[in-house]
Amino acid sequence: MSPGATNPRRLLARLRDVMAGAGSPQERLDRVVRLIAEGIGADVCSCYVMRAGEVLELFATHGLKKSAVHHTRLRVGEGLVGDIAAHAKPVALSDAWSHPSFVYRPETGEDLYRSLSGVPIIRAGRVIGVLVVQNKEERAFGEEEVEVFETVAMVLAELLTSQPLIGQDELAPAEGNALLPVRLEGVKMNGGIAIGLAVLHRPRLRIQKLVAEDGAAEATRLHKALDEVRGEVDSLLEGGERLSEDYRDVLEAYRMFADDRGWISKIVEAIETGLTAEAAVQKVADDTRVRMSQIADSYIRERLHDIEDLANRLLQRLMGVTTVSSADLPTDAVLIARTMGPAELLDYDRAKLRGLVLEEGAATNHVAIVARALDIPVLGKVSGVLDKIEPLDPVIVDGDRGQIFIRPGEDIKDAFKRSLLAHREQLAKYAASRDLPAVTLDGVEVSLNVNAGLLLDIEHVHASGADGIGLYRTEIPFMARSSLPDVAAQASLYTRVLDAMQGKPVVFRTLDVGGDKVLPYWNNEEEDNPMMGWRSVRITLDRPMILRQQLRALIRSAAGRDLRLMFPMVAEVAEFDQARATLDLEMERERARGGNLPQSLLVGTMLEVPALLWQLPQILSRVDFISIGSNDLLQFLFASDRGNPRLSDRYDTLSPPVLRLLRSVAEQCEEAKVPLSLCGEMAGEPLGAMVLVSLGFRRLSMSAHSIGPVKAMVLGMDAGQVRDYVLTQLDSAAHTLRPKLRGFARDHGIQL
Ligand code: PEP
Ligand code: MG
Repeated sequence: MSPGATNPRRLLARLRDVMAGAGSPQERLDRVVRLIAEGIGADVCSCYVMRAGEVLELFATHGLKKSAVHHTRLRVGEGLVGDIAAHAKPVALSDAWSHPSFVYRPETGEDLYRSLSGVPIIRAGRVIGVLVVQNKEERAFGEEEVEVFETVAMVLAELLTSQPLIGQDELAPAEGNALLPVRLEGVKMNGGIAIGLAVLHRPRLRIQKLVAEDGAAEATRLHKALDEVRGEVDSLLEGGERLSEDYRDVLEAYRMFADDRGWISKIVEAIETGLTAEAAVQKVADDTRVRMSQIADSYIRERLHDIEDLANRLLQRLMGVTTVSSADLPTDAVLIARTMGPAELLDYDRAKLRGLVLEEGAATNHVAIVARALDIPVLGKVSGVLDKIEPLDPVIVDGDRGQIFIRPGEDIKDAFKRSLLAHREQLAKYAASRDLPAVTLDGVEVSLNVNAGLLLDIEHVHASGADGIGLYRTEIPFMARSSLPDVAAQASLYTRVLDAMQGKPVVFRTLDVGGDKVLPYWNNEEEDNPMMGWRSVRITLDRPMILRQQLRALIRSAAGRDLRLMFPMVAEVAEFDQARATLDLEMERERARGGNLPQSLLVGTMLEVPALLWQLPQILSRVDFISIGSNDLLQFLFASDRGNPRLSDRYDTLSPPVLRLLRSVAEQCEEAKVPLSLCGEMAGEPLGAMVLVSLGFRRLSMSAHSIGPVKAMVLGMDAGQVRDYVLTQLDSAAHTLRPKLRGFARDHGIQL
């Protein structure tokens, strides 16, 4: 078969036959690579399988020397194959020899083959191998061919995992021994790549003085420090209902250990042997750690962390150390912590922070939000990371793939350095278009705005050249504090936001707490369905003082300036009316008080509850603008939890029903002459933004780092042409239009 003449359906059918057919797994794999080579017109097809220790072993080949099978091995990050595994991304090169990652393996005889295309073999989100095809001649592998190839790799993943080709334990993530390179997996909480040195949040303190002359004096120091720690924990516990249950448990455990006679007497015994109080605490903590780390019981292992935290607190007291000094922070610091609050993250010198890795993570969403504002990659749920990492170990955080490499080899480092460089080059290109307006080829102007929630974000608004803030999530400052801010504190914050924006518009959204956004000082009751529970405007309408105070603060901050605000999670017109009436009341109050009122007031609603779709005429007659919150709207539309990774691929934003919905809303808004914007994740994805612009959206709001890519896309699109195409697809019954839309963009030179 000639290159390019792939018939994917036939190839897949034949693959399935071979895989279900007779022969040992190795024999079937041999047949599979031959089939693929023939099916896609390649001279060579090879399959590499990931073995323990992050090594890719050539398991089968058609075209390369058979003697190389089970002999040729590449580390992850080494050569093109290792590169594909490290990035979990396909590669298609018409001239592989000129690629800097190409490594020549004479035993394979591959010097004959000029072009190469490879895809990762992925199972359950992990790379378990690499599939490669090569041709003698330079061959340009098209995007569609690569897509077929990816599908083939998916099918092959089944064969690799369901058959005893290698032990199942080898297919599990490598554990590694303390000093070998280790790769661990977690959950992506913010994308991007960080290369740097590990800084352990609350690291082991370096004890200067180990031996003491006066044992009695050391014992006294110990007891004094213990009393202080007990007092500290008691006062936290007395914080009462403000504490979440989890945190209370931890504190109770601290309190228990701080009183534990066995533990204390062990420390005293160590002092009696001649150690200083701090050396004795450290020794007992180390002994306990060794003993307890052999216990499989997760409850007990959890207590181990409590003891370590307590020992750390004691050590800090004994040594008079309180916080991490930023002078000690390496210039490329990757923070590793069990959990961390947003304020703790901000204690570190931002200029030196490159990434954040958390052992836990689900409950710490707000730290991720702050990290996002700092624009650093964040991984959550990386279990055991603190045990496998030493302070200042070199690490690479691959936020996009949810993995961290600890003490990576040179090859992996080089591979990521190249990615980082390419990423920076791309950023430089975006920076160059910073001051250009976002106008399509056919002259449609699109206003690009930023989603913000911290003062930090405002720097990004200016740096990215965005037109304004399309969504200011007011709950984020509430989440970062230890108590509800009063009117003065809120007004001062909103004033700083408006000042820092230097006249660029800001759309404030009133408090959107509840759901996954929990305030530490709020005594939340457990709900079965918090996302559909007492959240957002439902809370602020039920607790009108909170809303009134917030609106009062917003009105005062906008004195003499424009005030734009919107209400979240509005499900019916009556809710909007009630919120609006509260606003009018506060305006009246401010007027009566002789305050300086905003020079203009624009009031809108988020459209993120499907019920509002059928109240559009009524709501449109009341609002000054509408902003679609596609994250919530789509989760409710498809009845599909936006935070559940198992569902993340099930429904697509670029599916016909969603596009029909968006088109209908856009048309109704246009008819009513009500400005419409969209501020969910979809707006920040260039392909999503392309569709939105084509459907009539003229205002989008996204995270700051999406402004560059979306602007590049807008500058290259002809809105009318895309619209004509999109309209032809709206009657489709496909699961998603994504591949077609991507194909259209590619064919029309639209940068995605
Ligand atoms: C949304 O739901 O799309 C939205 C922008 O709001 P949030 O993500 O803050 O819920
Ligand atoms: Mg929302």
